[in-house]
Amino acid sequence: TQHFLNRIGQHAGLGAFLALDADVSLAQARAADARLAAGERTPLLGVPLAHKDVFVTRDFPTTAGSKMLEHYRSPFDATVVSRLGVGPGGAGMVTLGKLNCDEFAMGSGNENSAYQKVQNPWDTSRVPGGSSGGSAAAVAARLVPAATGTDTGGSIRQPASLTGITGIKPTYGRCSRYGMVAFASSLDQAGPMARSALDCALLLSSMAGPDPDRDSTSLDMPAVDYATDLIATHADGTSAKPLKGLKIGLPTQFFGAGCAPDVLAAVRGALSEFEKLGATLVDVSLPLTELSIPVYYVIAPAEASSNLSRFDGVRYGHRAAHYTDLTDMYKKSRSEGFGDEATRRIMIGTYVLSHGYYDAYYLKAQKIRRLIAQDFQTAFAQCDVIAGPVSPTVAWKIGEKSDDPVASYLADIYTLSSSLAGLPGMSVPAGFGAGGMPVGLQLIGNYFKEAQLLGAAHQFQ
Ligand code: GLN
Repeated sequence: TQHFLNRIGQHAGLGAFLALDADVSLAQARAADARLAAGERTPLLGVPLAHKDVFVTRDFPTTAGSKMLEHYRSPFDATVVSRLGVGPGGAGMVTLGKLNCDEFAMGSGNENSAYQKVQNPWDTSRVPGGSSGGSAAAVAARLVPAATGTDTGGSIRQPASLTGITGIKPTYGRCSRYGMVAFASSLDQAGPMARSALDCALLLSSMAGPDPDRDSTSLDMPAVDYATDLIATHADGTSAKPLKGLKIGLPTQFFGAGCAPDVLAAVRGALSEFEKLGATLVDVSLPLTELSIPVYYVIAPAEASSNLSRFDGVRYGHRAAHYTDLTDMYKKSRSEGFGDEATRRIMIGTYVLSHGYYDAYYLKAQKIRRLIAQDFQTAFAQCDVIAGPVSPTVAWKIGEKSDDPVASYLADIYTLSSSLAGLPGMSVPAGFGAGGMPVGLQLIGNYFKEAQLLGAAHQFQ
């Protein structure tokens, strides 16, 4: 814990952390030590991690990257936080602090944080991706061994890809959303970000599992011991073809002109390694891929506008200092508390849900969402796993897309469709592209197939 606290101090310029408290972290480390001294031998006991600042924590403030929640302190821990933590029943991990992110997890470059921007450790003039950009930068710079992230439309996979680390978004419902500051509730999902598939497997085993009293959308399926699964696969891995029989589907829409040639070359290079390990590559089609952008950018803002209505300055969050009456207090508190992107999404969301537009936008988007999910099932009839790029380019320069929100939305093309379908997806370092920047390979599995994704990634790594 002390080692990582020192590293965090040395690399404060990356901007990855929003909250640190060495006293709290060291007290947690002592609690883990006591469990160790009492004879406990579990894999994560005493291992430090940090949480994306959308998971509420009792011991650290939680801002969700927004001025709206500046100095906010939750009276309880998110389920994912307590399952990983040093408290009773937790895996025993020590919290190093809270990680920067786009405001309310809305963004793809971590440039929408109300606090400092985050730098990509591979090239500090570039973004780390988003919205879990602080998590990605901290793991990539080895400021933390692992971190939590959340993924609504790519926010674990895309920053993992842009910083050369491994991250997995499990099936929707696999991890409890209790205590995750809500963005788009039908899409939000927690997951681990770490150096390898094995480390992700260790974390996910503790994070996942039903939470029936607190998140009614959490799946009624027991948590899986993903790491033991992997180690078992690894034992088989003494064979030269550990992935023999695995069919990997390549959607033609993921390999078209929209993807930068350097990214495609790295992805194809990784896929040929999978072939050497025994996997076969087959072409599949996801014909509605292009529509995932408009569909997502109707549904996610619609849900966000509803979720963010709770920030009214009355119960918690920012309240304006001067106002004339209640309505003026709402208006001023919200105008001061929300940044540009959150405001934009509240406006879009309110519009598409309003009378007269609901059928034309929101309902239509929901129908296409269903068709997108069906396309995946057609594709999975021909393959076990789907693969492609995560992001159409390597990490871009800080500021390059800040005046053009639509350019950021378009860059989400390869991650949105699986999110809309609720499928598990991960990013595995594939190689390097332009400027020596990391490129991730995306692996998408069918529902509940996290173990298969992690296993394939582990063999490749
Ligand atoms: N980039 C997407 C957005 O801005 C996804 C964000 C996320 O997954 N939280 O909405």
